[in-house]
Amino acid sequence: MKLLEGKIAIVTGASRGIGKAIAQMFVDQGATVCFTYMSSDDKAKALESELSAKGGTVKGFKSDAGDFNAAQKLADDVIAEYGRIDILINNAGITRDNLLMRMSEEQWDEIMAVNLKSVFNLTKAVLKPMLKARAGSIINMSSVVGVKGNAGQANYAAAKAGVLGFTKSIALELGSRNIRCNAIAPGFIETEMTGALDEKTVQGWRDAIPLKRGGTPEDVANLCVFLGSDMSAYITGQTINVDGGMLT
Ligand code: NAP
Repeated sequence: MKLLEGKIAIVTGASRGIGKAIAQMFVDQGATVCFTYMSSDDKAKALESELSAKGGTVKGFKSDAGDFNAAQKLADDVIAEYGRIDILINNAGITRDNLLMRMSEEQWDEIMAVNLKSVFNLTKAVLKPMLKARAGSIINMSSVVGVKGNAGQANYAAAKAGVLGFTKSIALELGSRNIRCNAIAPGFIETEMTGALDEKTVQGWRDAIPLKRGGTPEDVANLCVFLGSDMSAYITGQTINVDGGMLT
């Protein structure tokens, strides 16, 4: 039996990387997937075609997760078309790394909008339909950097740590309505982006990880399947690291 059969899911930021793997795996597990992206129109269309060709129900939406009204419109459109929202994955995220000394106000504000406010925006937007259904699973993509901090990423770490506080608060607020909220803290996940980095540096990072490899987008997507499914029905308010033991 497929673990997400019949479930309607919103995944933000799924034109590439971890979000794309989540969309692929969710369709494989029987979910209807509504995914968002910011500017990669071609990649979004290609993903729609790939997953539709497999027999999945999937729709891409160009929607800025950092924009409150756009998030509300997205939820309204999904409800109008599919009638329910069972799972929300707040995955969209960006980096604007710099040492604090050189960090601009714009770099701080952009990160807060896309990595933290987006989580508020989308969670608010799905709240009414989830409350009505007295069910829902919200999964927020944080980072080991939000747990531990990282030099050169004060903006990103602050936003990702904010996501953890938000996750726990929502779990406490909405548990009585059977709405669960958990966070994932990925470590070093190898994506197209990291493929462009110097191989020697990347190998050094791999060697420092207890499992001796970088993670794959699928490693993170597997946990999303579990947290989105009824297999995790008694799990809420948690932060689960997918990091090969990096923070251990
Ligand atoms: P990625 O490959 O850079 O992909 C980011 C995705 O987010 C893209 O689909 C992008 O769409 C979308 N996006 C960007 N800004 C958006 C906005 N304002 N509204 C809607 N969508 C937007 O990122 P990733 O590496 O897969 O990371 C996914 C999540 O995991 C992020 O939250 C990241 O912080 C977190 N994470 C990643 C790692 C890692 O090692 N990769 C580690 C820890 C945590 P476009 O293609 O249209 O720009």
